[in-house]
Amino acid sequence: MEKADHIWMDGKVVGWNDASAHLISNTLHYGFGVFEGIRCYKTPVGPAVFRLKEHLLRLRQSATILGFEVPYSIEEMTEGTRVIVKANGFDQCYIRPIAYIGDGGMGLAYEDCKINVSIAAWHWGEYVGKGTLENGSRVRTSSYVRHHVNTHMSKAKACGNYMLFQMARTEAKRDGYDEALLLDTNGHVAEGSVEHVFLVREGVLYTPPLANLLDGITRRTVIQLAQDNGLQVREELFSRDYMVTADEAFFVGTGAEVTPVVELDNRRIGTGKRGPITELLQKSYFDHVYGRVETHPEWLTYV
Ligand code: PMP
Repeated sequence: MEKADHIWMDGKVVGWNDASAHLISNTLHYGFGVFEGIRCYKTPVGPAVFRLKEHLLRLRQSATILGFEVPYSIEEMTEGTRVIVKANGFDQCYIRPIAYIGDGGMGLAYEDCKINVSIAAWHWGEYVGKGTLENGSRVRTSSYVRHHVNTHMSKAKACGNYMLFQMARTEAKRDGYDEALLLDTNGHVAEGSVEHVFLVREGVLYTPPLANLLDGITRRTVIQLAQDNGLQVREELFSRDYMVTADEAFFVGTGAEVTPVVELDNRRIGTGKRGPITELLQKSYFDHVYGRVETHPEWLTYV
Protein backbone atom coordinates (compact mmCIF):
# COMPACT_ATOMS: atom_id res chain seq x y z
CA MET A 1 0.00 0.00 0.00
CA GLU A 2 1.09 3.53 -0.74
CA LYS A 3 1.38 5.53 2.47
CA ALA A 4 0.08 9.10 2.58
CA ASP A 5 1.51 11.97 4.63
CA HIS A 6 -1.28 12.73 7.09
CA ILE A 7 -4.25 11.24 8.96
CA TRP A 8 -7.09 13.03 10.76
CA MET A 9 -7.35 11.75 14.33
CA ASP A 10 -10.01 13.08 16.67
CA GLY A 11 -9.99 16.50 15.11
CA LYS A 12 -6.22 16.86 14.64
CA VAL A 13 -4.06 16.25 11.59
CA VAL A 14 -1.14 13.96 12.51
CA GLY A 15 1.67 12.40 10.50
CA TRP A 16 0.94 8.99 8.95
CA ASN A 17 3.60 7.30 11.10
CA ASP A 18 2.33 8.97 14.27
CA ALA A 19 -1.28 7.80 13.84
CA SER A 20 -1.24 5.08 16.48
CA ALA A 21 -3.80 3.62 18.86
CA HIS A 22 -3.01 1.94 22.17
CA LEU A 23 -2.49 -1.86 22.24
CA ILE A 24 -5.11 -2.10 24.96
CA SER A 25 -7.82 -0.71 22.69
CA ASN A 26 -11.09 -2.54 22.98
CA THR A 27 -11.69 -2.70 19.22
CA LEU A 28 -8.35 -4.37 18.53
CA HIS A 29 -9.34 -7.24 20.82
CA TYR A 30 -13.03 -7.66 20.03
CA GLY A 31 -13.64 -6.03 16.63
CA PHE A 32 -16.23 -3.70 18.16
CA GLY A 33 -15.99 -0.64 15.94
CA VAL A 34 -17.43 0.73 12.71
CA PHE A 35 -15.84 2.05 9.56
CA GLU A 36 -16.48 3.29 6.04
CA GLY A 37 -14.83 2.98 2.65
CA ILE A 38 -15.24 6.03 0.42
CA ARG A 39 -13.68 7.19 -2.82
CA CYS A 40 -12.68 10.66 -3.92
CA TYR A 41 -12.30 11.20 -7.68
CA LYS A 42 -10.51 13.71 -9.85
CA THR A 43 -13.18 15.79 -11.57
CA PRO A 44 -12.66 18.62 -14.08
CA VAL A 45 -13.13 21.12 -11.22
CA GLY A 46 -11.01 19.43 -8.56
CA PRO A 47 -11.30 16.43 -6.25
CA ALA A 48 -14.84 15.38 -5.28
CA VAL A 49 -15.89 12.77 -2.72
CA PHE A 50 -18.59 10.44 -4.01
CA ARG A 51 -21.74 10.30 -1.85
CA LEU A 52 -19.88 11.42 1.26
CA LYS A 53 -23.01 12.30 3.21
CA GLU A 54 -24.51 8.84 2.69
CA HIS A 55 -21.28 7.16 3.81
CA LEU A 56 -21.01 9.30 6.95
CA LEU A 57 -24.66 8.70 7.75
CA ARG A 58 -24.09 4.95 7.39
CA LEU A 59 -21.09 5.23 9.74
CA ARG A 60 -23.31 6.83 12.37
CA GLN A 61 -26.05 4.26 11.76
CA SER A 62 -23.57 1.40 12.05
CA ALA A 63 -22.63 2.76 15.49
CA THR A 64 -26.32 3.04 16.44
CA ILE A 65 -26.75 -0.63 15.52
CA LEU A 66 -23.82 -1.59 17.75
CA GLY A 67 -25.21 0.65 20.49
CA PHE A 68 -22.83 3.60 20.69
CA GLU A 69 -22.66 7.09 19.28
CA VAL A 70 -19.99 8.51 16.97
CA PRO A 71 -18.79 11.63 18.83
CA TYR A 72 -18.61 13.77 15.66
CA SER A 73 -21.45 15.08 13.53
CA ILE A 74 -21.76 14.50 9.79
CA GLU A 75 -20.74 18.14 9.25
CA GLU A 76 -17.61 17.75 11.42
CA MET A 77 -16.60 14.55 9.62
CA THR A 78 -17.29 16.14 6.23
CA GLU A 79 -14.89 18.90 7.19
CA GLY A 80 -12.37 16.33 8.50
CA THR A 81 -12.58 14.51 5.16
CA ARG A 82 -11.95 17.72 3.23
CA VAL A 83 -9.05 18.60 5.52
CA ILE A 84 -7.33 15.24 5.11
CA VAL A 85 -7.70 15.05 1.31
CA LYS A 86 -6.24 18.56 1.08
CA ALA A 87 -3.50 17.94 3.66
CA ASN A 88 -2.27 15.00 1.56
CA GLY A 89 -2.53 17.00 -1.68
CA PHE A 90 -4.63 14.27 -3.33
CA ASP A 91 -6.64 14.83 -6.47
CA GLN A 92 -8.04 11.31 -6.09
CA CYS A 93 -7.93 8.79 -3.22
CA TYR A 94 -9.65 6.20 -1.07
CA ILE A 95 -10.93 7.44 2.32
CA ARG A 96 -11.27 5.32 5.46
CA PRO A 97 -13.09 6.76 8.49
CA ILE A 98 -13.21 4.51 11.55
CA ALA A 99 -14.90 4.92 14.95
CA TYR A 100 -13.31 2.65 17.50
CA ILE A 101 -13.28 2.04 21.22
CA GLY A 102 -9.94 3.19 22.50
CA ASP A 103 -8.19 2.39 25.75
CA GLY A 104 -9.77 2.87 29.17
CA GLY A 105 -10.83 -0.62 30.03
CA MET A 106 -10.74 -4.22 28.89
CA GLY A 107 -13.54 -6.74 28.95
CA LEU A 108 -16.66 -6.66 26.85
CA ALA A 109 -18.17 -3.75 28.76
CA TYR A 110 -16.78 -0.53 27.31
CA GLU A 111 -18.62 2.23 29.23
CA ASP A 112 -15.36 3.66 30.58
CA CYS A 113 -13.62 3.74 27.23
CA LYS A 114 -13.23 6.69 24.94
CA ILE A 115 -14.65 6.49 21.43
CA ASN A 116 -12.06 7.62 18.92
CA VAL A 117 -12.57 8.61 15.32
CA SER A 118 -10.00 8.88 12.59
CA ILE A 119 -10.09 9.51 8.86
CA ALA A 120 -7.25 8.19 6.73
CA ALA A 121 -6.80 8.57 2.97
CA TRP A 122 -4.46 6.92 0.49
CA HIS A 123 -4.19 5.94 -3.15
CA TRP A 124 -6.07 2.74 -4.00
CA GLY A 125 -6.63 1.62 -7.58
CA GLU A 126 -8.59 -1.31 -9.00
CA TYR A 127 -9.84 -3.30 -6.01
CA VAL A 128 -10.94 -6.73 -7.25
CA GLY A 129 -7.79 -7.38 -9.26
CA LYS A 130 -5.61 -5.86 -11.95
CA GLY A 131 -7.45 -5.64 -15.26
CA THR A 132 -10.77 -6.87 -13.85
CA LEU A 133 -12.71 -3.66 -14.59
CA GLU A 134 -12.23 -4.42 -18.27
CA ASN A 135 -11.69 -8.17 -18.47
CA GLY A 136 -13.96 -9.23 -15.64
CA SER A 137 -13.35 -11.32 -12.55
CA ARG A 138 -13.32 -15.05 -11.84
CA VAL A 139 -15.27 -15.89 -8.72
CA ARG A 140 -15.77 -18.91 -6.50
CA THR A 141 -18.59 -19.64 -4.12
CA SER A 142 -17.20 -19.33 -0.64
CA SER A 143 -17.14 -22.25 1.75
CA TYR A 144 -18.20 -19.67 4.38
CA VAL A 145 -21.79 -18.48 4.75
CA ARG A 146 -22.87 -14.82 5.04
CA HIS A 147 -23.78 -14.17 8.69
CA HIS A 148 -27.32 -14.96 9.72
CA VAL A 149 -29.25 -11.71 10.04
CA ASN A 150 -29.35 -12.10 13.82
CA THR A 151 -25.76 -13.26 14.28
CA HIS A 152 -23.88 -10.23 13.07
CA MET A 153 -25.88 -7.16 12.23
CA SER A 154 -25.61 -7.07 8.46
CA LYS A 155 -26.62 -3.41 8.11
CA ALA A 156 -23.68 -2.32 10.23
CA LYS A 157 -20.33 -1.88 8.57
CA ALA A 158 -18.77 -3.18 11.76
CA CYS A 159 -15.10 -4.14 12.06
CA GLY A 160 -15.77 -7.62 13.49
CA ASN A 161 -18.05 -8.56 10.56
CA TYR A 162 -15.00 -8.43 8.29
CA MET A 163 -13.31 -11.47 9.74
CA LEU A 164 -15.74 -13.55 7.70
CA PHE A 165 -15.28 -11.49 4.53
CA GLN A 166 -11.53 -11.59 4.94
CA MET A 167 -11.57 -15.39 5.25
CA ALA A 168 -13.79 -15.65 2.18
CA ARG A 169 -11.64 -13.38 0.06
CA THR A 170 -8.42 -15.03 1.22
CA GLU A 171 -9.81 -18.47 0.41
CA ALA A 172 -10.84 -17.34 -3.09
CA LYS A 173 -7.48 -15.67 -3.79
CA ARG A 174 -5.51 -18.68 -2.52
CA ASP A 175 -7.51 -20.89 -4.86
CA GLY A 176 -6.62 -18.67 -7.80
CA TYR A 177 -9.87 -16.68 -8.09
CA ASP A 178 -10.30 -12.92 -7.97
CA GLU A 179 -13.13 -12.80 -5.47
CA ALA A 180 -15.55 -14.81 -3.31
CA LEU A 181 -19.31 -15.09 -3.59
CA LEU A 182 -21.07 -15.62 -0.25
CA LEU A 183 -24.42 -17.36 0.00
CA ASP A 184 -26.87 -16.61 2.80
CA THR A 185 -27.92 -19.10 5.48
CA ASN A 186 -30.69 -20.39 3.16
CA GLY A 187 -28.28 -20.87 0.27
CA HIS A 188 -29.31 -17.86 -1.82
CA VAL A 189 -26.73 -15.54 -3.33
CA ALA A 190 -25.92 -12.83 -0.77
CA GLU A 191 -22.92 -10.73 -1.78
CA GLY A 192 -19.23 -10.67 -2.61
CA SER A 193 -16.72 -10.12 0.19
CA VAL A 194 -17.21 -6.35 -0.17
CA GLU A 195 -19.50 -6.08 -3.17
CA HIS A 196 -23.13 -6.43 -4.12
CA VAL A 197 -24.13 -8.68 -7.00
CA PHE A 198 -26.19 -7.91 -10.09
CA LEU A 199 -27.28 -10.23 -12.92
CA VAL A 200 -28.64 -9.40 -16.34
CA ARG A 201 -31.19 -11.78 -17.84
CA GLU A 202 -33.00 -10.86 -21.06
CA GLY A 203 -32.27 -7.19 -20.51
CA VAL A 204 -33.60 -7.12 -16.93
CA LEU A 205 -31.36 -6.55 -13.90
CA TYR A 206 -31.62 -8.74 -10.81
CA THR A 207 -30.05 -8.11 -7.43
CA PRO A 208 -30.72 -9.76 -4.05
CA PRO A 209 -33.02 -7.78 -1.73
CA LEU A 210 -31.47 -5.78 1.11
CA ALA A 211 -32.93 -7.86 3.95
CA ASN A 212 -29.70 -9.62 4.88
CA LEU A 213 -27.19 -7.27 3.27
CA LEU A 214 -25.28 -4.09 3.91
CA ASP A 215 -27.28 -1.16 2.48
CA GLY A 216 -24.79 -0.55 -0.29
CA ILE A 217 -24.29 2.97 -1.59
CA THR A 218 -22.98 1.76 -4.96
CA ARG A 219 -25.92 -0.67 -5.16
CA ARG A 220 -28.29 2.27 -4.70
CA THR A 221 -26.34 4.32 -7.24
CA VAL A 222 -26.38 1.56 -9.87
CA ILE A 223 -30.11 0.93 -9.40
CA GLN A 224 -30.69 4.66 -10.00
CA LEU A 225 -28.43 4.70 -13.06
CA ALA A 226 -30.14 1.60 -14.47
CA GLN A 227 -33.51 3.29 -14.05
CA ASP A 228 -32.18 6.51 -15.58
CA ASN A 229 -31.22 4.36 -18.59
CA GLY A 230 -34.71 2.84 -18.84
CA LEU A 231 -33.68 -0.55 -17.45
CA GLN A 232 -35.91 -2.60 -15.19
CA VAL A 233 -34.41 -3.70 -11.86
CA ARG A 234 -35.84 -6.53 -9.79
CA GLU A 235 -34.76 -7.10 -6.19
CA GLU A 236 -35.23 -10.85 -5.85
CA LEU A 237 -33.62 -13.80 -4.16
CA PHE A 238 -31.82 -16.16 -6.51
CA SER A 239 -29.57 -19.17 -6.25
CA ARG A 240 -26.10 -19.50 -7.72
CA ASP A 241 -27.33 -21.61 -10.64
CA TYR A 242 -29.35 -18.57 -11.74
CA MET A 243 -26.09 -16.66 -11.76
CA VAL A 244 -24.15 -19.10 -13.97
CA THR A 245 -27.00 -19.10 -16.50
CA ALA A 246 -27.30 -15.29 -16.58
CA ASP A 247 -26.37 -13.29 -19.68
CA GLU A 248 -24.15 -11.02 -17.61
CA ALA A 249 -23.14 -10.59 -14.00
CA PHE A 250 -21.24 -7.87 -12.19
CA PHE A 251 -20.14 -6.72 -8.74
CA VAL A 252 -20.66 -3.20 -7.41
CA GLY A 253 -19.07 -1.51 -4.42
CA THR A 254 -17.04 1.52 -3.48
CA GLY A 255 -13.83 -0.47 -3.89
CA ALA A 256 -14.98 -2.67 -6.79
CA GLU A 257 -16.85 0.17 -8.55
CA VAL A 258 -18.57 -1.79 -11.35
CA THR A 259 -16.57 -4.96 -12.00
CA PRO A 260 -17.83 -7.62 -14.43
CA VAL A 261 -18.04 -11.21 -13.17
CA VAL A 262 -17.27 -13.48 -16.11
CA GLU A 263 -16.93 -16.82 -14.36
CA LEU A 264 -18.44 -18.48 -11.29
CA ASP A 265 -17.19 -21.85 -10.01
CA ASN A 266 -15.44 -22.53 -13.34
CA ARG A 267 -18.61 -21.90 -15.35
CA ARG A 268 -18.46 -19.10 -17.89
CA ILE A 269 -21.19 -16.48 -17.49
CA GLY A 270 -22.65 -15.31 -20.82
CA THR A 271 -19.89 -14.78 -23.38
CA GLY A 272 -17.22 -14.81 -20.67
CA LYS A 273 -16.53 -11.12 -21.41
CA ARG A 274 -17.84 -7.83 -20.03
CA GLY A 275 -21.42 -7.66 -21.30
CA PRO A 276 -23.06 -4.63 -23.00
CA ILE A 277 -25.35 -3.70 -20.08
CA THR A 278 -22.47 -4.05 -17.61
CA GLU A 279 -20.41 -1.79 -19.86
CA LEU A 280 -23.20 0.76 -20.14
CA LEU A 281 -23.64 0.96 -16.35
CA GLN A 282 -19.91 0.95 -15.73
CA LYS A 283 -19.51 3.90 -18.10
CA SER A 284 -22.44 5.73 -16.54
CA TYR A 285 -20.98 5.10 -13.06
CA PHE A 286 -17.56 6.44 -14.02
CA ASP A 287 -19.12 9.44 -15.81
CA HIS A 288 -20.86 10.34 -12.54
CA VAL A 289 -18.02 9.73 -10.09
CA TYR A 290 -15.56 11.65 -12.29
CA GLY A 291 -18.05 14.54 -12.63
CA ARG A 292 -18.24 14.21 -16.43
CA VAL A 293 -22.06 14.47 -16.44
CA GLU A 294 -24.42 16.64 -14.48
CA THR A 295 -27.34 14.29 -13.93
CA HIS A 296 -26.75 13.81 -10.19
CA PRO A 297 -24.73 16.75 -8.85
CA GLU A 298 -26.00 15.90 -5.35
CA TRP A 299 -23.67 12.88 -5.32
CA LEU A 300 -20.44 14.91 -5.32
CA THR A 301 -18.90 16.80 -2.40
CA TYR A 302 -16.11 18.97 -3.72
CA VAL A 303 -13.02 19.20 -1.57
N1 PMP B 1 -21.00 -5.63 0.93
C1 PMP B 1 -20.09 -5.54 1.92
C2 PMP B 1 -20.02 -6.60 2.95
C3 PMP B 1 -19.23 -4.43 1.96
O1 PMP B 1 -18.32 -4.30 2.91
C4 PMP B 1 -19.32 -3.44 0.95
C5 PMP B 1 -18.37 -2.26 0.96
N2 PMP B 1 -18.79 -1.24 1.81
C6 PMP B 1 -20.31 -3.58 -0.03
C7 PMP B 1 -21.11 -4.69 -0.02
C8 PMP B 1 -20.51 -2.48 -1.03
O2 PMP B 1 -21.07 -1.37 -0.38
P1 PMP B 1 -20.81 0.12 -0.87
O3 PMP B 1 -21.34 0.19 -2.26
O4 PMP B 1 -21.61 0.97 0.05
O5 PMP B 1 -19.37 0.37 -0.81
